[in-house]
Amino acid sequence: MAVQALPAEYYTPFLSDVAKERKPAPIRGLYPLENRPGMISLLAGKPNASTFPFTSITIKSRSPTDASAELTTELSGKVLAEGLQYGPTAGLPDLVEWVYGLQEREHGRKKGEGWRLSIGSGSQDVLHKAIVALVNPGDAVLVESPLYAGVMPTFEALHCEFFAVPTDSKGIRSDALRSTLENWPAGKPKPKILYTVPYGGNPTGMTAVKERRQEVLALAREHNFLILEDDPYYYLYFGEAARPPSYFTLERELPEVGRVIRFDSLSKILSAGIRIGFACGPEPIMTVIDMHTAVASLQTPSLTQAITFALLDSWGYDNFKTHTHTVSQFYREKRDVFEKYMKKYLDGLAEWDRPEAGMFFWFKLLLPAVDGKEQDSESIIRTKALEKGVLALPGTVFLPGGGKTPYVRAAFSLLDEAEVEEAIKRLAAVVLEAKGA
Ligand code: PMP
Repeated sequence: MAVQALPAEYYTPFLSDVAKERKPAPIRGLYPLENRPGMISLLAGKPNASTFPFTSITIKSRSPTDASAELTTELSGKVLAEGLQYGPTAGLPDLVEWVYGLQEREHGRKKGEGWRLSIGSGSQDVLHKAIVALVNPGDAVLVESPLYAGVMPTFEALHCEFFAVPTDSKGIRSDALRSTLENWPAGKPKPKILYTVPYGGNPTGMTAVKERRQEVLALAREHNFLILEDDPYYYLYFGEAARPPSYFTLERELPEVGRVIRFDSLSKILSAGIRIGFACGPEPIMTVIDMHTAVASLQTPSLTQAITFALLDSWGYDNFKTHTHTVSQFYREKRDVFEKYMKKYLDGLAEWDRPEAGMFFWFKLLLPAVDGKEQDSESIIRTKALEKGVLALPGTVFLPGGGKTPYVRAAFSLLDEAEVEEAIKRLAAVVLEAKGA
């Protein structure tokens, strides 16, 4: 069945004033004409690549199918030339095409069916630009709580009013979202966006189950908001049950698509330093993101895109899948080791839900109440734990609009077993001390 996409005009009321003011960059907008057969271009101030010193770049990588084997990928010819030169704002065409193929395989979304993609310098880059494209200063926004701390400053700089939607072990609480929307203050403009991390949430580590996602999508349709699906931990899903479909996939169950803007990241699976992420969503919003990029940085670096493409292209989609599976299993083992010591030392001192994706444990310290109120983790983590030589993040950092919480976020991605045991022992000692034990 053909996919019905929302028309371009639908998005006009969603665009922020800044987005409406953006104009296409005068030179970059004409780039595509350079490719017209017979065209002689006097257009762009592109440097002449023959003056560049690079003649080839060699990538050595681990084979996805045999960890002991090393693969060699040469960056030369057209791919090298494109990697060394300015390129299209939305991304290097080869990489863009590869990612279209990936999104079709992973999310069942075909190129040309009411969406397009744009490569960013990490997903953070395109995520920030999407928020700026959609939110006006002072706007009410729906955000899951706790909230990824890296996105909070963007909303705060816009003086957004947070409407926090709680999460639990099944992900975002769609019932709470429904209640927020049904009890929306009369006369107040409705929120235009909902921000959520669907797999391995940061900080909670939780993954939203399918039913919750379906309900959120139904609410987006009913109450007319867009879903920002920020999904850097998609490939780090290691749960026992089958992986729930993404919002980007599930929205195909609605009568029309175009309410999901999806953000992917290669940071956790290829390299964080290579800074490649991508946004997929409706054309009018991608256009504004690109116009922002065109004036902010012209484009995501061509060279990192070319390196990424050369590697992915030499692997093919099946090997990419094998690689991401290996990475997810690596983190599953890290999770297991971390939990082993949580159980050993923090039993009765903390509570948690076991994460099934990502790289974080979010746990509640069972501290004695002070003046009849639940004690928050802030001072314990920022002072006592530091004194004992263990660094974690107090949950307050992740509360949109502030507040207190006894929760703590611990990343389990880097430590070896001995370090994990020592860190958790130190944390346990801090909690025991606080309990006066
Ligand atoms: N969103 C979330 C939820 C994250 O945890 C991160 C990385 N910390 C990002 C976005 C940004 O990732 P990237 O490296 O792709 O910019």
